[in-house]
Amino acid sequence: MDRFQHYIDGRFEDAAEGFDSLDPATGTAWARMPAASADDVCRAVDAADRAFAGWAGTTATARGKLLYRLADLVAEAAPRLAALETRDTGKIIRETTAQIAYVAEYYRYYAGLADKIEGAHLPIDKPDMEVWLRREPVGVVAAVVPWNSQLFLSAVKLGPALAAGCTVVLKASEDGPAPLLDFARLVYQAGFPPGVVNILTGGPEAGHALTTHPKIAHIAFTGGPETARHIVRSSAENLAKVSLELGGKSPFIVFDDADLESAANAQVAGIFAATGQSCVAGSRLLVQRGVKDDFLARLKTKAEAVTIGAPGAMETEVGPLCTARQRERIDRIVAESVAAGARLVTGGRVPDGPGFYYPPTILDCSDTPNAASVTEELFGPVLSVVAFETEEEALRLANDTAYGLASGVFTRSLTLAHRMIRGIRAGVVWVNTYRAVSPIAPFGGHGLSGHGREGGLAAALDYTAVKTVWLRTSDDPIPDPFVMR
Ligand code: NAD
Repeated sequence: MDRFQHYIDGRFEDAAEGFDSLDPATGTAWARMPAASADDVCRAVDAADRAFAGWAGTTATARGKLLYRLADLVAEAAPRLAALETRDTGKIIRETTAQIAYVAEYYRYYAGLADKIEGAHLPIDKPDMEVWLRREPVGVVAAVVPWNSQLFLSAVKLGPALAAGCTVVLKASEDGPAPLLDFARLVYQAGFPPGVVNILTGGPEAGHALTTHPKIAHIAFTGGPETARHIVRSSAENLAKVSLELGGKSPFIVFDDADLESAANAQVAGIFAATGQSCVAGSRLLVQRGVKDDFLARLKTKAEAVTIGAPGAMETEVGPLCTARQRERIDRIVAESVAAGARLVTGGRVPDGPGFYYPPTILDCSDTPNAASVTEELFGPVLSVVAFETEEEALRLANDTAYGLASGVFTRSLTLAHRMIRGIRAGVVWVNTYRAVSPIAPFGGHGLSGHGREGGLAAALDYTAVKTVWLRTSDDPIPDPFVMR
């Protein structure tokens, strides 16, 4: 079996305890992972804390150059990292290859941004004072990521945090940590000083030890809302700043004037890509009644034509889910929704054979809009469909969720699109497209989807705090205050 190590204080090390990682395509163990103890976590945070003053004191240009080197190394190592992510999480090789090549662009963006994080000078209302603002890094960052797209989800934290001058302890998910533990080799090769980036893995205990640690200044979390609640409680210990990127139940809205073929292709990619294990999955299709039958027929044909297979094969379009427990949960919610009256259009049955596969599934929930598959995030290849008549109804259904991450609107009407953009409560609105991302564009949500914004300049500023400096310019002595009174 392959063996992976932690990366703490510039050294690769084994842990006293470990666990097996399963290949989701076969369900068998393929690698041995280290499990961080509370003591390992503590050593990593101490290392990051020791490294902080030096890293924050390095010129921003020098930090940017190291990030550029890291970006190049990620691009070069993309095939190896993609193969590891595919093996350890079941995400298909086509997707991991494309996504990791793009991860390099995130490091490049933040490399370029490092020396553009500027302070400000204030036109203060006192003649003998100069007042300016320094933007300083907040300190040690705890980054905690889920199992899907770990390289991507950590790049949107590491990039801005390192550019801003913070040091980081990154906890990979206990499910599928191989690509992140391997990525540590690139951090080492790039030449980041020891302690600036530390990467370890482990379950909730390791996450708890990290997020409650008194030396943590900022917790950057991506994962589910339940864990987010733990994290917010943990932050009561250290009063760290917290940013949360959580799940979604994103509406994909198709009006009857839309280009149906384009919309159908976007919908298929929007829900079945990554086997539905995507926070922005367009998992609630809201379709106008007049085109519902036509649109569902197109979706059914496309869903049934998908090539399901080994995640490592280039022709595979949908692979297995990452874990058995994930598949059990999805299967249970689909069965409950069908029992409640939802109509199965396609899929919905666990296939025979090894691995954690689940087929592309479409449920027509037009008569059961409160079925669990409509309201809960499944994080799987399941599309729940609800028909609507009017624009007002579409907007009401779109916002009838505790989440608020992403949304898609398909229409040829510019004015209708603008009204929907204004009315939808979500951090991202895609119009006549879906699932586009870029390091230049902020990303995040509302409500149960969290409140952080990753990507763009604002994400780097989020890892800084303003220091206000007052400098008296007068050479006159400061008068005795009691005389003044
Ligand atoms: P999860 O919340 O179970 O786990 C996420 C991470 O938190 C893991 O590393 C886990 O070990 C850690 N953790 C668990 N308990 C902890 C605790 N008590 N203290 C500290 N850390 C703890 O999420 P998951 O099931 O791995 O991932 C799926 C979820 O992530 C979905 O809800 C999905 O929508 C969300 N997600 C959101 C985004 C986004 O950008 N908004 C992106 C991808 C995934």
